[in-house]
Amino acid sequence: RLESLPQRFQGEKTSESKAELRPLASFSELGVSLAVQNALKAMSIHTPTEIQAACIPPLLAGRDCIGNAKTGSGKTLAFAIPIIQKLSIDPYGIFALILTPTRELAFQISDQFAILGNSMNIRTAVIVGGMDMMAQALELGNRPHVVIATPGRIVDHLNSGSGEWNLSRVKFLVLDEADRLLSPSFVPELSHLFKILPKERQTCLFTATLTSSIEDVAKAPPRPGKQKPFIHRM
Ligand code: ADP
Ligand code: MG
Repeated sequence: RLESLPQRFQGEKTSESKAELRPLASFSELGVSLAVQNALKAMSIHTPTEIQAACIPPLLAGRDCIGNAKTGSGKTLAFAIPIIQKLSIDPYGIFALILTPTRELAFQISDQFAILGNSMNIRTAVIVGGMDMMAQALELGNRPHVVIATPGRIVDHLNSGSGEWNLSRVKFLVLDEADRLLSPSFVPELSHLFKILPKERQTCLFTATLTSSIEDVAKAPPRPGKQKPFIHRM
């Protein structure tokens, strides 16, 4: 029994558990690959933020994830890093679909993927409203690995039925700014997409606000054989 151990060992036990509570200090400790670590160094990014330290390990381990952290806390790399790392071992078809509510956010996410994936030949396509449908159809036909889209426009492309692409090999779905995507104005497009997307995939939600619809997702029972999503609350 612990209390019967000599003081010396109890002391060691305490400092050991303290060491376990120490925040993770490096991307390497989170399981991020050397290739991705080097890409991060080239972006002058050396230490993970809290949301990255929390969400990268469960996402690399294949779990669904709900990440809640304020604006500017590095949520984009919290999903971009695991996507790029997993992509490098399965470079086939549209691997990841990232949904975001606005055009501006889509381009910001795309910029980060472009820098991070630069040395790894990762192709991304940005499919947002207010831009040329034909040019986007060509981009989709160019076998992108990652598609960053606003829901309305990607559904427009699916409905137009043109092109050689589909979403049948998507392994990773991200709802960025999930509080806004789960609001009533996006429900028709999202339910359409959820019908089409493969059920065998990872899903992650990132948000600065935990709304009741996100809490509902968090509480929903997982599909048989699946773990509950990992949840990080700020
Ligand atoms: P959020 O989506 O949480 O609002 P972003 O993902 O847009 O935040 O990140 C905000 C800024 O922080 C970006 O310019 C990004 O390059 C930078 N950033 C992300 N992660 C790190 C990090 N680990 N260290 C330093 N800067 C980072
Ligand atoms: Mg963001």
